[in-house]
Amino acid sequence: MKNWITEKHQKESLAALKRLIDIPSVNTADGTSFPPFGKAIEECLTEALTICEELGMTTYHDPAGFYGYADYGQGEELIAVLCHLDVVPAGDLALWETDPFQAVVKEGVMYGRGSQDDKGPTIAALYAFKAVVDSGVAFNKRIRFVFGTDEETLWRCMAHYNLKEEQPTKGFVPDSAFPVTYAEKGLLQAKLIGPGSTAFALACGDAFNVVPGNAQYQGQDAQLVSQKLAELGISQTLTDQTVTVNGKAVHSSAAGQGVNAVNQLATGLVQVHSHPMLQFLAEKVGTETNGFSIFGEVKDEMTGELTFNVATINVTETKSEIELDLRIPVSYPAADLVPLLEKAAAAYGLTYEEFDHVPALYVPKESDLVQTLTTIYQNKTGDQTQPITSGGATYARTMKNMVAFGAHFPDTKSLAHQANEGISITEMVQAMDIYAEAIFQLCCN
Ligand SMILES: [Zn+2]
Repeated sequence: MKNWITEKHQKESLAALKRLIDIPSVNTADGTSFPPFGKAIEECLTEALTICEELGMTTYHDPAGFYGYADYGQGEELIAVLCHLDVVPAGDLALWETDPFQAVVKEGVMYGRGSQDDKGPTIAALYAFKAVVDSGVAFNKRIRFVFGTDEETLWRCMAHYNLKEEQPTKGFVPDSAFPVTYAEKGLLQAKLIGPGSTAFALACGDAFNVVPGNAQYQGQDAQLVSQKLAELGISQTLTDQTVTVNGKAVHSSAAGQGVNAVNQLATGLVQVHSHPMLQFLAEKVGTETNGFSIFGEVKDEMTGELTFNVATINVTETKSEIELDLRIPVSYPAADLVPLLEKAAAAYGLTYEEFDHVPALYVPKESDLVQTLTTIYQNKTGDQTQPITSGGATYARTMKNMVAFGAHFPDTKSLAHQANEGISITEMVQAMDIYAEAIFQLCCN
């Protein structure tokens, strides 16, 4: 297989990536007015489409601001590459060694929020396309890059796209890992709501899809809370009247590899303040990340075990609320699990409210698409890793015949949603080369 990527493509792609990272495209609005997810996301969408125009594509910017796309080539069939431009918040700035929204290259790594998820892979796919165009081969199919703006929250962008726009024949999503992800767990995000408290207040956690890496408690009895936590062996610091529990933030889909600071805080705090929400967390969740005490064992051969993440907790005088993120094995319908969760919550006087549900993805391993992409990856890298399944949710499940394809390599540490997110330039260029071959085989053969 040919090596597609020149030094010029490398240089230009890094400059383009910096243009996207430097726009802090964190969702700051609720989707009901223009721009639907805030000015920065709108600006980032405009910038991405400008880059596409510079690469010779024709672009469309949804006037309502939910999505945009860029087209090239001709023919009946439409091959799609689905990307997203929104990013999760930076989190604790003290943990970052650089400004998360000022891309910096240090020792061969470009750092910045979105460098891995998903601006880096997006740019890799775009400059892969450019490399194929530059090689002079003709496109006998059309290619479309679709840019979503709401991936880290509710995927309203793709819902709008699917209502109004052409469906692709097939394609890939550069928002996961190599080789190819052909099955993704179902995703359920929900809230449990209970009574407030006049004795204490809490506001911990960032987003549904992040395991909270720290959780703070403030109050006059902080010392006592700290002591209870210490007795349980929970890592924490006490300053004045604030206890900070130190967990480990990871993506919700990898909940088992993180340490959930909210659950840990709850197990200590409940010994000082009796409250149904804390009791629920201490008794039904604790250190479990597979929901076993609520659902029993939920596990299949294809996609593994259920993951259960308590992403946030908020307790005010009038209300308490936790946000949950569940990744459900493909052979379990969410509809079977929800009643069990409702029942477990009801036992503590908590009510269940669904926030988002995205069904699982499944494209057969034997399909042409999975086989073609896997073969390209294997030939390019020499790595014989077989197609995989994942707990992560990508846009692949929003359309037919789409799979997730890169851009993480199996041995790369995922820093998505974490502090000091960075992409190795060598790996980005390698991904670019793999994407170029994929675009060539899908669009020019
Ligand atoms: Zn992503």
